[in-house]
Amino acid sequence: MLSGAGAAAGFCDDAYRDAGAVVEPDRKYLLSATDVLLAVQPPRVEDVGLLKPGTVTISFLQPATHAATVEALAARGVTSFSLELLPRISRAQGMDALSSQASLAGYKAVLMAANRLGKFFPMLMTAAGTIPPARVLVLGAGVAGLQAIATARRLGAVIEAYDVRPAVKEEVRSLGASFLELELEAQEGQGGYAREQSGEFLARQRELLMGRVGAADVVITTAAVPGRRAPVLVTAPMVKGMRRGSVVVDLAAETGGNCELTQPGRVIEVDGVWVDGTTNVPSTVPLHASQLYSRNVTNLLEHLTNDGTVRVDFEDEITSGACVTHGGEIVNDRARQLMEVPQEAAAP
Ligand code: NAD
Repeated sequence: MLSGAGAAAGFCDDAYRDAGAVVEPDRKYLLSATDVLLAVQPPRVEDVGLLKPGTVTISFLQPATHAATVEALAARGVTSFSLELLPRISRAQGMDALSSQASLAGYKAVLMAANRLGKFFPMLMTAAGTIPPARVLVLGAGVAGLQAIATARRLGAVIEAYDVRPAVKEEVRSLGASFLELELEAQEGQGGYAREQSGEFLARQRELLMGRVGAADVVITTAAVPGRRAPVLVTAPMVKGMRRGSVVVDLAAETGGNCELTQPGRVIEVDGVWVDGTTNVPSTVPLHASQLYSRNVTNLLEHLTNDGTVRVDFEDEITSGACVTHGGEIVNDRARQLMEVPQEAAAP
């Protein structure tokens, strides 16, 4: 393992040595000597040439924006697996790094909002008067959104949530939030995912959301469509309509943002309203982000391994879903489709 790789998450080199790893400071040597490369981010194009043909890699690959990496991996004869392409089936839940990281992000988004909001979250009856609970609006109720609802609820807020997938209604309600019914007919996606909605749909959605955003103290946005730029759900006039001191936390900042005013990687203040575009939120909970991620990757590697060797069996749904390059070719139709998404529509 690369020396210092765990430092930012609070794991020192000695902890890896104690667990039996060889800690190596020479990155180039490490890449050229490895049979299986486990990483978080897609390999850099210039690093792919250092890998031996036949090396197996497991990481996020982001094919929509890393087409050159995918092509380089194929040309180098590397067998690569992309964690974001794992099928979301029960058998693969223990390998689902999108879910483990989204869950951390949803939790932390609420704490970030609570920290900035100049109000209590819970209702309080004190000798000095009654404090009403904070009102939280969660847009996008996937893994991150549901965790945000659960966390805000534990802090005592009153929560409304909305998603284009009606299937999540019951989950939202079971967590103690109310589901916002908008008179809109969403296009259904495949495999439990949302699909990109039409411009007309999104315009109407924004119109209907206007009042609800204005009533909220905190808006947490998590709406995403895999591989695509995030839909804009909260416009500048909607932010203007919020009370001073209110907070928007945009967990879609990395893929362009659900709020028109979001500046990825920055927290800004617009007319007294905070718009938090912090990116890579799971890395602000580094210890558990690392623990969960390493468990996801280990589970996938164990699934692929038989007698100490990685066997690529395309009859297996997990392998065929997540394997992107093998035997000198791009072997994944979904990855190919994502590579063809026009860059202006792709998630940055
Ligand atoms: P995601 O991060 O891609 O999207 C987040 C949410 O944004 C989704 O719920 C999506 O419907 C919503 N969204 C998209 N466009 C929207 C719009 N215009 N307005 C409002 N909301 C919008 O999704 P995710 O959280 O990674 O997962 C999505 C779903 O996948 C899960 O909720 C679940 O159904 C399924 N899933 C299944 C498993 C499993 O069975 N193993 C594991 C994880 C997730």
